[in-house]
Amino acid sequence: MSRSRTWRVVKYVGAVSSVLLAAALIVSGWVAVLYSKPPRILIVDHGMVEYWYVGATPNPLWPPSPGWHVQRHAACSLSWLPRYHRFMDGDLFVRLPIWIPLALIAALTTRRWWRDWRYIPPGQCQKCGYNLTGNVSGRCPECGTPVKPSQGRANE
Ligand SMILES: [Zn+2]
Repeated sequence: MSRSRTWRVVKYVGAVSSVLLAAALIVSGWVAVLYSKPPRILIVDHGMVEYWYVGATPNPLWPPSPGWHVQRHAACSLSWLPRYHRFMDGDLFVRLPIWIPLALIAALTTRRWWRDWRYIPPGQCQKCGYNLTGNVSGRCPECGTPVKPSQGRANE
């Protein structure tokens, strides 16, 4: 794949991922989704992805029975901080707030879109912005990009 093609893919994958992560963040404020495969549990809840390892002392409620569990909250509730905790008995959990990967991906994607959208007026090189008024060589003297015929006659 060429470099510009790669960037185009990165741009769209980044945009779609941002939207999906933002949706997951908001939905998880209202709905908890849990996948249990003891001793491991994966939870998306409160705007976070949570991984549990429950090895030591099972009780009737914890860990939940194997499979998917979905539960609705009465009100939206979000948490913002990452957390790691290891219990005395060896159980542990790790929490990663969804906003962290979301902010990273969204920032990089936005920067990429911005660069490509940056407006360069006709009469200037569309690659580097060099003023091409009166250009006769057919190439930008600054960066060597071929000049489209319409670009050299911008003063009309
Ligand atoms: Zn140029």
